[in-house]
Amino acid sequence: MQLNDINFDAKHIWHPYTSMTQPIPAYPIVSASGVELELADGRKLIDGMASWWAAIHGYNHPVLNQAASQQLTKMSHVMFGGITHPPATALCRQLIDITDDRLECIFLADSGSVAVEVALKMALQYWQARGETRHQFIALQRGYHGDTFGAMSVCDPANSMHSLYRGYLPTHFFVQAPQCGFYQPWQADDLIPLQKMLTEQAGKIAAIIVEPIVQGAGGMRIYHPNYLTAVRELCDHYNILLIADEIATGFGRTGKLFACQHSAITPDILCLGKALTGGYVTLSATLTSRHIAETISQGKAGCFMHGPTFMGNPLACAIADASITLLRNSPWQKWVKDIETQLMAELFPLRDQPQVADVRVLGAIGVVEMKNPVNVPELQRHFVAEGVWIRPFGKLIYLTPPYIITAVQLTKLTEAIKKIVLKL
Ligand SMILES: *Cc1c(COP(=O)(O)O)cnc(C)c1O
Repeated sequence: MQLNDINFDAKHIWHPYTSMTQPIPAYPIVSASGVELELADGRKLIDGMASWWAAIHGYNHPVLNQAASQQLTKMSHVMFGGITHPPATALCRQLIDITDDRLECIFLADSGSVAVEVALKMALQYWQARGETRHQFIALQRGYHGDTFGAMSVCDPANSMHSLYRGYLPTHFFVQAPQCGFYQPWQADDLIPLQKMLTEQAGKIAAIIVEPIVQGAGGMRIYHPNYLTAVRELCDHYNILLIADEIATGFGRTGKLFACQHSAITPDILCLGKALTGGYVTLSATLTSRHIAETISQGKAGCFMHGPTFMGNPLACAIADASITLLRNSPWQKWVKDIETQLMAELFPLRDQPQVADVRVLGAIGVVEMKNPVNVPELQRHFVAEGVWIRPFGKLIYLTPPYIITAVQLTKLTEAIKKIVLKL
């Protein structure tokens, strides 16, 4: 890549949450393999992000490459209206197999945000089919569910800048995020805000939507499994649906295949994305029970009213199917446990630093929360100079590496974090 490409990018191409007048520098990556990203000048960076939770097997994986190229020679895409194909049925069989038995009807869509839109629409159509007026959702403060309007309407109001879209965005109910951490002694008081809201509002509520155990982009908060167990009980008690957004937590990231398993609960609707294709291409899945799917189908519309152009894209489905097989045939539990143990050993000492507010680890997730927001471009420069790729946001410096990372590579990531934290 030439310098003029980088200048062209800065001038013409939007990046996630980035200014068009003062863009944060973008680093040119020309290839990626295993746990390394290669810069245009040939330098290699150890990847601490797995491209936002997604590339769990690392990059350029021979098995996923083969699945993709084999599918390419058959067909990259064909419409899903009135047509089905082996990649979709194979993938959905696997998804049913690895999730709770009650989740057996699957909607395949393009991205995580769309999976959340689909989940919200399913909940609304379900209650409409039952002749009940329930138009509102309960979500947690500090939650993140995506950037489209429906998804944004259930994100933390401050983090997702609800004020920018006031008048257009539907308004829902937000309860205080759980305060009790994953490893702390359980405090039943954590439930009071939700209990109080349900006593007042339950009749209007279609569903409660949560990120199970780990709140990702809204603050990388890791909460107590008893909270989620109680949310399930409250949903049952008040006859409200539970939507679990496992787009970030799914496929082993927290040490369980799905984070709901930490609390041994099953949601009524489950959203999957990110690591679904091993980080190769975009795809999401929304799973629900036969009861909900049938109720929706008996409603006024006679069907679920959604159908994206690229629904069930065969290329994406073939890669996802191969990625799940690869995961199931790997010792991922050991890999994730080893990453967890090492992250704890190497990051927890940072808790003693006065500039550090908290250090949290669960599975293959390591978070250093600073007391003050960090300078992202400055930290990125430091990390690239250290030979690692870590992208902080706000006060958070965090790692979600590919599961195949070696101990030596992981130490390089934690050392780079330690070095910069000590300078801040
Ligand atoms: C990333 C994410 C989404 C949105 O997924 P996109 O593919 O970016 O649209 C939704 N929910 C959670 C929990 C996520 O982490």
